Amino acid sequence: MATFTDLGLSEPVIRSIINMGFEETTPIQEKTIPTAMEGRDLIGQAQTGTGKTAAYGIPLVERIMEQAEQIQGIVLAPTRELAVQVAEELNKIGQFKRIHALPIYGGQGIDWQIRALKKRPHIIVATPGRLMDHMRRRTIRLNEIKIVILDEADEMLNMGFLEDIETILKEIPEDRQTLLFSATMPRQIQNIAQRFMKEPELISIKAMGVTVSDTEQHYVEVSERLKFDVLSRILDIQSPDLAIVFARTKRRVDELSEALSKRGYSAEGIHGDLTQSKRDSVLRQFKDGTIEILVATDVAARGLDISGVTHVFNFDIPQDPESYVHRVGRTGRAGKTGLAITLVTPREMGMLRLIEQVIKRRIVRKPIPTIIEAVEGQQRLTMNEILRVIAEEDIEKYKGVAEELLSENDSVTLLSAALKIITKEPEAVEVRLTEPAPMRGRSMGNARPQPNNYNRDGFGQKTDTWARRKGNDVRGGAAGAQRGRDNKRNG
Ligand code: ADP
Ligand code: MG
Repeated sequence: MATFTDLGLSEPVIRSIINMGFEETTPIQEKTIPTAMEGRDLIGQAQTGTGKTAAYGIPLVERIMEQAEQIQGIVLAPTRELAVQVAEELNKIGQFKRIHALPIYGGQGIDWQIRALKKRPHIIVATPGRLMDHMRRRTIRLNEIKIVILDEADEMLNMGFLEDIETILKEIPEDRQTLLFSATMPRQIQNIAQRFMKEPELISIKAMGVTVSDTEQHYVEVSERLKFDVLSRILDIQSPDLAIVFARTKRRVDELSEALSKRGYSAEGIHGDLTQSKRDSVLRQFKDGTIEILVATDVAARGLDISGVTHVFNFDIPQDPESYVHRVGRTGRAGKTGLAITLVTPREMGMLRLIEQVIKRRIVRKPIPTIIEAVEGQQRLTMNEILRVIAEEDIEKYKGVAEELLSENDSVTLLSAALKIITKEPEAVEVRLTEPAPMRGRSMGNARPQPNNYNRDGFGQKTDTWARRKGNDVRGGAAGAQRGRDNKRNG
């Protein structure tokens, strides 16, 4: 793998990359940066989590002239969260070259944005709809644009932005450079490329890539009715530091996050119907660990890069294999391992097999965890907390009573009684979830797998028990998990 110094970058940009902690290029970066630096159009295809932002962000920042106080670069992104995240990364890449990127998205006050635009950012990162608003109001001019990037192009098309994108591209001077990045390459994208790009070079990084294959992937076959119990038990056993739970509809996101909160987890939901400030605050709390479980729809979570996500739960199986890859890509990012668990109803087994074919990997079947396993999971948390207190806190004043107790009882009996008092046993919570909407597009009936090369008998036959994963906590460790749990249970 190449280093960034091999790519002929300027000194300030290299310095910021070092500052960001990047050591080697990812494959998509290694291949696209030199081509983009030559000024050529290109289409970059690589799965989620492979560093596409820097793949275009670095050449973008290199091409901007910092003295010229005009918008010289535009990134189009499907969601507000993504726009914010991309602008943050661009500002990091541009920090020493003093390049300023501004996110522009719907939901934020347009007057505020107009004021921010007066500070003359070099780059704007915009959702297509809001950019169109500004074009109509003439608060953003596109005549000095030298470089345009379409990020998550497939998702922008899925969200119905095709016409907006066409309108925007027609308004930008033709001698610009155009870069398009996408995880998948549907025909519509090739169409856009033909009409709006100049002999683009296609750079495609094959294989399901790092993230999905570095993620342990399990599934549990379970009826719709039992899903919530199963999810709760797995949460008790695994006690994830940071987990994202995917549900199919906004309504289910609300219901599920409410039910999880009732049951004592620190959970919040995120979806498109929430106000921008609510979404921002939920994301901020999730990033800093105040919220441990984020319940989300696909669209709300698309493209988010949150480090330290240890678990992804597909409470509802995704509607197509591509979404599965996107969801699972939320964990185990940038070389860390994660765990993805999919709950599958019996009628959805066809979709699971289809996903296995597309990702060319087996998803390991796990049994429905027992209540006993869940309780043991909680006890293990208590145990870790006890060990932490022994190591870190002053317990002298408790020793007198402890010795008194020990003179009359054996230590195992004593400790068991203490554990019983301290351990928060999972409480039963009555939950009523609305049935998930039927799958869109490919219906379940069509989702039968094609004949394949796998040994069918090997599929999903092996079941073993649930054990807390050891040794690959991404952050915090057991004591951290316990701390979080105390906060939310007491607070
Ligand atoms: P994508 O857009 O392909 O889904 P991102 O651009 O969001 O991926 O990058 C995923 C994560 O990897 C981010 O946290 C990013 O900071 C990190 N990353 C990107 N490039 C590198 C690199 N060369 N070395 C280390 N981490 C990187
Ligand atoms: Mg991206």
